Order: sequence, then C-alpha cells, then structure tokens
Amino acid sequence: MITTRFAPSPTGYLHIGGLRTALYSYLWARKNSGRFLLRIEDTDLKRNSKEAAQAIEDAFKWVGLSHDDEIVYQSQRFDLYKKYVQKLLDEDKAYYCYMSKDELDELRAQQQARKERPRYDGRYRDYKGEIPNDVKPVVRIKAPQSGTISFVDGIKGEVSFQAEDILDDFIIARADGTPTYNFVVAIDDALMGMTDVIRGDDHLSNTPKQIVVYKALGFEIPKFYHVPMILNPNGKKLSKRDGAMDVMEYQKMGYLPEALLNFLIRLGWSHGDQEIFSFQEMLSLFDPSNINKSASAYNGEKLLWLNAHYIKNASYERLTKELKHFDLDIEDHDKQEILVDALRDRAKTLVEFADMAKAILDTPESYDEKAVKKFIKEDSFEILLKYIAFIKVSEKPLRLPSDFEQITKEFMAKYNLKMKNLAQPLRISLVGSAVSPSVYDVLSILGVDEIVARIETFIHKQKD
Ligand code: GLU
Repeated sequence: MITTRFAPSPTGYLHIGGLRTALYSYLWARKNSGRFLLRIEDTDLKRNSKEAAQAIEDAFKWVGLSHDDEIVYQSQRFDLYKKYVQKLLDEDKAYYCYMSKDELDELRAQQQARKERPRYDGRYRDYKGEIPNDVKPVVRIKAPQSGTISFVDGIKGEVSFQAEDILDDFIIARADGTPTYNFVVAIDDALMGMTDVIRGDDHLSNTPKQIVVYKALGFEIPKFYHVPMILNPNGKKLSKRDGAMDVMEYQKMGYLPEALLNFLIRLGWSHGDQEIFSFQEMLSLFDPSNINKSASAYNGEKLLWLNAHYIKNASYERLTKELKHFDLDIEDHDKQEILVDALRDRAKTLVEFADMAKAILDTPESYDEKAVKKFIKEDSFEILLKYIAFIKVSEKPLRLPSDFEQITKEFMAKYNLKMKNLAQPLRISLVGSAVSPSVYDVLSILGVDEIVARIETFIHKQKD
C-alpha cells in the first residue's frame, strides 16, 4: 500500500509551495487507495504547533484535501526518539562525543586554513581514553567514511553522494538530549510506514543523512521524489511578493480552490499540453514520475486565467455560496441566474464578481461625471422619462433580458430613436457609469419598479 505524508514545519500558515507538495503526495496516495498522513515537524518547540496544525487543516478543508489518522507531532515523540538514540548507542552504531565548543572551533579554523570542508574529525569514535567530565556530550552516529550513498530518485533518477564529501559522524542528539532534524525525520517516516516521500528538492542534501539513519536502524528506505522548486518569473526563489503566500490569502483575493489546485498541479507536472484538470482527472492522471526535472516559474496571469475559467463554469449555487464571503448575498434574488450569467464571463476573481454585482444591485451613490458630460444630451431626460412611461404600461410582463430587448426596440421604433440615444443614458442613470454588462441584462436584473425609481432619482439629482 502506498503511504505518503505532508510534513510541514509549523510556520503558522500553509504557503502555496507547501500546498503543491501536499497535493502531489495526496493525489499519489489516493490514486493508489493508499494513506496520506500529516506530521508537524515542531521539534524546536518555539512555535505554537496546535495553531499551526489548525491553519493547515483549515487550508486543506478549503481546497478539499483530507489526511488519514491523527496528526503526528514530533514534539510529542521525544521519548520515542530517545529510545532509538539509546538503541544505536547500545549497538555501537553511535557514540558520545565530548568535544567542547572551543575544540570544535579550533578544528574548524584549522580545516579552513587548509581549505578543507569543515567536518567533525571522528576523534571520539571508538574513543578509549579518559572522559572529560566538564563537557556534556552530544551523540554522534557512525556514518560511512568512504564510498557512495546512492538512491534512485523518482524524479531525478540515480543520485549519488560521496560519503567523504558530504558526511561526517553527524549529531543525532544534542547535549541537552534533544534529537536532531534528520534523525527524527527518518525515524518518523519509517515508523509511519512511508513508502513514498515526495518533498521539495531543497531537502535533497538531507537525504543521504537520513539514509544513514535508516540503515543504522534497519529500516526500509522509502522511494524519494525530490520536486524542483517554484521560482519567480526572474528565476529567483519565490518570495511573498511574487505569490508565495498563505493559501488562505488566495481565498481572500477571490480565487476558487479548484483554480488554485489546477494551477499548482501544472506548476511542475504536465500531461501532454492539457491545461484544465478536474479533481477526478488529477486523481486518475497524476504520477510523480512525470514531475518535471527542472524548476517551474510562478505565473500569476495563468492563475487568473484558470480562475476565470472555473468561475465561468461554476454552478449558480456554488457561486452564490462563494460570493457570500465577499459581502454579496444573492441567494433570494429573483434574477440570481441572470445576474450570474451576465457577470460570469467578465470576472477573473470573486472579488471582481462581487464588485460588479454590487455596482448593479446597489443604487448608485454618484454618477460618473465624464460619462454624464459625454452622453447626457439635451433631450436625454425627456427620452428617459418617455421610456419609463412606456415600460410601465407594457401589457406583456417584463422579466427576462429578451422581454426588455423587445420592448426597448418597440420604444425606439415608436419615437424614431437609435440605441445610442438611449443605451448610455440608461446605463448612467441605472448604475452610475457607462460601463456595465448588456443593458438588457441590467434592466432585467433590476425590474420595472427599480428602473423607474433609479431613472427618476438620476433626473432629480441632475436637475438640482
Ligand atoms: N519540514 C520540512 C519542511 O517544511 C519538510 C520535511 C520533509 O518533507 O521531509 O520543509
């Protein structure tokens, strides 16, 4: 059974790079009817890990990901890690090192002077001498001193590290007894039954150390997939300014979660030249072996394009529900569907959608002066007044945009007018500016009584 995990350090929020890794791990597990686990890497205890976990769960909930089992907190597993430190000490696969800070500094200085890589020289490995009693020891693992450490990465292929270039007997427990990062990650991944570890390739250099731990403890080594980073359009590390933000910021900016997931899955993975992936397609098509070997660039325009696509295709119920987060409640509006259809092709985000809807639904507080100057002619008020008189006495009920289109054409024919005499004055009096969706949609959304009221108010205010 495939088991994957997402193992964030508790930063207090989930950023989009993290969500991409989580998504890949989630899809791979779910696709294989496997398990997807969540572990909070909170060994430094400085942050509030419960809050951090909650932030991740909130973001997961928003985008529709779910994890199996209880969340694992590394901060609650110190006793367990100690047991494994002891086991390695007992088996002579690890040892106490009594080197003082001064000695370590001196060693570093010598190595630097010889232009060597700073590394621990192994002086307490198999040490038989006297034990200094003024130094609290650390515990170091016996790492291979020569040869290579290799593994087949699911994305990068065969990866080899020369032991002498990258390894020394690294610390697994500090002087205060707390375990170190690579030690606990390897133990947790093994005990949690990881078969596939999918993570950012900024962790690639940790992998040989973790492999040393797996081997020392006799654990099975999982398959690793090191995913290339997301870069900004200039090829630099993605910063907050570029979009490396809290996932929940994207909700506030009016993105639909399906657009964000679609964006993220394509940021580093592809299936031919297909751009749009439903969740079902993501599940059936995703395979971490097809993740790109090179870094991918964040492209905000693409995200907007995808968001527009998903807004265009969302159901009325869905949009109505989502728009409530943006202070727009159209649940009981009798022209809800006409309103949504008038705007769904025009809005790239839900924020834009809500703003455009409010511009129609709310009585204008002012009128665009430039538009008034340009489009309100001497005879405009008279035409508008005749128009409302005309629609008020319509025998046919006026409801749909097509009803308004028909009666407006009859009106223009009767008074020998052109659309240009009417359309912009109508828009300005109804919504305060000369830009709006189709004027027939606006008329239909407002209905006769509201049209009459708004035109009368407009004329009244303009005459003052
Ligand atoms: N805690 C690490 C991070 O947040 C991830 C470790 C891993 O996936 O192995 O970058």
